[in-house]
This record gives sequence, structure tokens and C-alpha cells, in this order.
Amino acid sequence: MPPYAYIDKKFVPLAEARIGVMTNFLHYGTAVFEGIRGNWNPQQKQIYIFRLREHYERLENGCRVLKMELPHSLDELCRITVKLVAMCRFEEDVYIRPLAYKSSESLGVRLHDMESDFLVFAFPWGPYLDMDKVRCGISSWRRPDYNVIPPSAKICGLYVNNAFARTEVTEKGFDEAIMLTPDGHVSEGSGENLFLVTKGKLVTPAVDNHILKGITRDTAIKLAKEELGMETVERPIELNELFSAEECFLTGTAAHITPVAEIDRRKIGDGEIGGVTKKLQQLYSGVIRGDNPKYLDWCTPVNKRVP
Ligand code: PMP
Repeated sequence: MPPYAYIDKKFVPLAEARIGVMTNFLHYGTAVFEGIRGNWNPQQKQIYIFRLREHYERLENGCRVLKMELPHSLDELCRITVKLVAMCRFEEDVYIRPLAYKSSESLGVRLHDMESDFLVFAFPWGPYLDMDKVRCGISSWRRPDYNVIPPSAKICGLYVNNAFARTEVTEKGFDEAIMLTPDGHVSEGSGENLFLVTKGKLVTPAVDNHILKGITRDTAIKLAKEELGMETVERPIELNELFSAEECFLTGTAAHITPVAEIDRRKIGDGEIGGVTKKLQQLYSGVIRGDNPKYLDWCTPVNKRVP
């Protein structure tokens, strides 16, 4: 079965999904994207798409920022995505990439007087940060201020900033970048939010610390509260606190919950996976695969033959 894409309001084999070279967003990054995961449950032979609607709500918000009208309602976007993944018949974890973009084949730096369109495709994708624990470096590239590009929307052009950071630290031998706010507080990873365990409490940068408001971040906050009885404090974090944390982990749709062993060559805790991180990781892994009945509302089954 070839992977499929939905483009120009049709399902086509992914290899046939093409965009003209003059399409506006290709030149100026005038598009918003999402990253959604479908998680394979081998016992149930089912793929569960995790928090599908919330991803499309975030996409819709981004579209407002970029003055784009989506050709589909939220319900239609969810239906198209489920159908697409079902058509692909994958029996493994998949990544789903929706894109809403300025589709006019017309150059010119602007948001107005431009058509927009939507596409989505899916492909098999295992772990993103492909290791048990990561070593992070602090990037010299800071998150953009709210009056530069709003960092709270997944605007394609914005991600050049994240790419600068990731490549800078990768070339220095680290696995992932930690980016700071313009005033030097901790913000987030290049594709993940960040949490600390400090004095036994969970702490994460607040929504006004130039972060993308991650859906995995929200999931981790809810699971910590419901299942571990731990509240998360959302507030600015300075570097000193980052380096002296007992535990640190990253959260993201692609990266799941990834422990951080080291930051700028300073060990976090004893450099091993911490107790809170491990518990959250285990909980999260069951929840996203539809193995925890309490959180099934977050999981959309793709295959009709639901057990
Ligand atoms: N921050 C950035 C910059 C990201 O690109 C992502 C990935 N979407 C996240 C955080 C995590 O967000 P989510 O948990 O919704 O995937």
C-alpha cells in the first residue's frame, strides 16, 4: 500500500502530491503546519490518533494569524485525516503532517489578496529523538519576540529560528537545543517543551515565555496532576535553576516524553532517567496507544474493526 496524501481536495498517492514552484508559501514561509501522531496498538491492531481535534484547533488559530480561510471545518479536517490514515493501512507508529498554506501561484510578500489551501499526508515514523536520554546544548539563537513572529503559532517561516538552534548545537555534539527567551529565560527545545523537577515540584516555562503551547505539555501536566498528584507550576525559569534541577525532560508529539541527561555538559541530577520522568513516560506511552480507558477520549481509532 503506498502512503497517500490529501491535496487539492482529493486523496492521491503521496508520490503524486506536488506543488507548483511559484506557490507563495514556498518563498515566504506563509503557511502553518501541525505534527500529529497515530500510535499503533499491536494487540488491538489499531492506530489511535492522539488529540486530533486539539491539533486542528491550533492549526485554525494559526490560520487566523496568517489571514487564511481553511476550505474545511474542524470536523471535516478530522474526518479527512482519519480516512487518510486508514487508507494507508500502516501497522506501525505514524506521523501526520497537515499544512495550511498560501496557495496562490503569485509572488509578493503579503498576507492579503491570496488564496489558501490545505493538504495532509502521513508516513511511518518511529522515535524522533532516537535515544533513551538526550544531551542538550543552549543555543545562542533566541526565540523571537511576540512582535517579530508570534512563537505560539506553528508558522512555517518561524521554524528557520528553530533550525538555526538545532543545527548549531548538533554541530557542537549535542542531541537537542534549548532556546531562551529574548530576555534570557528558558523557553523550549527546537521542537519540544521543557519541564523540570525542582525541589520535588514540576515546573515548566509559562505560556508567555515564548513557547509553543504544546499538546504533549498539556497532556503531561494533566497526567502528573491526575495520576501522580503533582501540580505543575508555570513560570519563568532562569539558567541557574535549569542546571540545578533534579530532573529535566522534553515533551512533544514527535519526541513524546524524552529525559534530558545533560545540559551544556552539566549533568542533570545523576545524569540518569529520574523517577518522575520515568513514571510520566510510562503513563504517556499507555495513554497514547489507547491502553488506558480513562483517557480514551483523547484517542481516535482509525480502523473500523474496533475491538
Ligand atoms: N515547541 C515547539 C517549537 C514545537 O515545534 C513543538 C512540536 N509541535 C512543541 C513545542 C511541542 O508541541 P506538541 O506537544 O503539541 O507537539
